[in-house]
Amino acid sequence: MRVVVTGGGGFLGSHLCEALLRRGDAVVCLDDFSTGVPENVAHLLPDPAFELHRVDVSEGVDVAGQVDAVAHLASPASPPDYLRRPLETLAVGSRGTENALRLALRHGARFILASTSEIYGDPLVHPQEETYWGNVNSIGPRSVYDEAKRYAEAVSAAYHRAHDLDVGIARIFNTYGPRMRPHDGRVVSSFITQALTGEPLTIYGDGGQTRSFCYVDDMIRGLLALLDSSEMGPFNLGNPIERTVRELAETVLALTGSVSEVNHHPLPVDDPVRRRPVITRAREVLGWAPEIELTEGLSRTIAYFGARPDRLGVSAAA
Ligand code: NAD
Ligand code: UDP
Repeated sequence: MRVVVTGGGGFLGSHLCEALLRRGDAVVCLDDFSTGVPENVAHLLPDPAFELHRVDVSEGVDVAGQVDAVAHLASPASPPDYLRRPLETLAVGSRGTENALRLALRHGARFILASTSEIYGDPLVHPQEETYWGNVNSIGPRSVYDEAKRYAEAVSAAYHRAHDLDVGIARIFNTYGPRMRPHDGRVVSSFITQALTGEPLTIYGDGGQTRSFCYVDDMIRGLLALLDSSEMGPFNLGNPIERTVRELAETVLALTGSVSEVNHHPLPVDDPVRRRPVITRAREVLGWAPEIELTEGLSRTIAYFGARPDRLGVSAAA
């Protein structure tokens, strides 16, 4: 297959490009490097099956030659990133998604959308099944991301209905691993960076809020299973084991052996209280389930961050 990956220079996108190449597919990576970094895909450039184009997919998407599938991952994903780029986030979720859908339609290609657990907002139903419609504040600061992704799902479903486009929707829950930016502001990258540099860990609120953390390799297997199917979903993809942010902090401190203190900061506006996916649909239809435990995944991520102290903004790890 020849697969177009929008946002292929980001954290998840670069792992997806790599996995596709590893199994023999050709990859066209489209990225504007607004939140991704060229270094994520630099090692793929010598591969003749890999092409990289620096483009803003909100402006338009055109790819010459055969296209068998489009994986649309382009979008800021970390809250500080999308809060800093509110209009660009809305643009890439709306116009960017439409441009990627039109590309798939022109080529008769399969289209998969990287949607998010954020479409459930601050959920009133717990844990979250795909049948839950969500609880999103449509004018709050996070709405630029949540509503953009809700629109992206809506327009993808409409292309499926109106044009019979082969669409698949993945609702991705918090995913972590190597190639997260150390200072992207997400909780896993922040805690690891802070623990390794001896800075205080920044817990927002009392740390009693929960998330379910999925290791990147598991997520990429899930995205490939969706890509290879002709199922629309939507499918929750995430790890169903729920942890409090406080537990995550304790685990990172234990695994790094760090003596960092823990500081509490105000909880961000509209920060969801609980998050846990029901993954029965993905298990039964795609045959997918996560396999990597949190301590194992965190150890691998800590090793990645620790191997390059320069990335942490210090000359040596504390
Ligand atoms: P990321 O920020 O590392 O990657 C996103 C990539 O998209 C970046 O390389 C960025 O430069 C690129 N991009 C952004 N706007 C673009 C535009 N207009 N044109 C071209 N490229 C553009 O984030 P990630 O964690 O890899 O997330 C990838 C996708 O998965 C996103 O769509 C995100 O919403 C979704 N997702 C991720 C998570 C997670 O926990 N990592 C959870 C839910 C959903
Ligand atoms: N969080 C935190 N300290 C940080 C960054 C995040 O306590 O330094 C909290 C945040 O308030 C949220 C959870 O960790 O409750 C997950 O945040 P993240 O930004 O990683 O993902 P999202 O909120 O999008 O699920």
